[in-house]
Amino acid sequence: MRKLLFESLIHLPLTEPPPPPSDAAMEELATAIDAISRRRLGRSLSIRAVDAGSCNGCELEMHALSNAFYDIERFGIRFVASPRHADVLLVTGPVTKNMREALERTYYATPAPKWVVALGGCAGDGGCFAGSYAIIGGVSKVVPVDLHIPGCPPSPTDILRGLLALLKHVNTGGRAS
Ligand code: SF4
Repeated sequence: MRKLLFESLIHLPLTEPPPPPSDAAMEELATAIDAISRRRLGRSLSIRAVDAGSCNGCELEMHALSNAFYDIERFGIRFVASPRHADVLLVTGPVTKNMREALERTYYATPAPKWVVALGGCAGDGGCFAGSYAIIGGVSKVVPVDLHIPGCPPSPTDILRGLLALLKHVNTGGRAS
């Protein structure tokens, strides 16, 4: 134990610090999302997060969007508690057998037009959980998916890029002002 403690004092850590997020890129993305959601929806964008069986890594990055650094609410993007108030379902993880019904019910409780974003590699095709007896597979095996944001996990900036692409390309079904 003493040897370990001593070695930890003289050796550099094996991990490297992550690259710092770019303030300017973040600001630009969030402002673009704010502008396009107001133009196409006529208001802010509401997101309901659904954890269908993730390891929690994708949630950490998603939750980072609401922290003091990213603070996405200032750009008109908010996470809502009920699917009935949501435009987007942001689904993480492979869909486990136990979460299948909950995901389906959340999908049907969301008013149309609604968009489903599969967040992370596991939500795409099951990722590292693919083949497990406990999972069904990617989100598209249970509900229709409009966009997949890859990564394990995707960074907050990747998530914003994905939301911007979604808003640019989906049909808002008459919600646009
Ligand atoms: S994509 Fe990676 S971080 Fe996200 S749920 Fe799967 S294993 Fe976890």
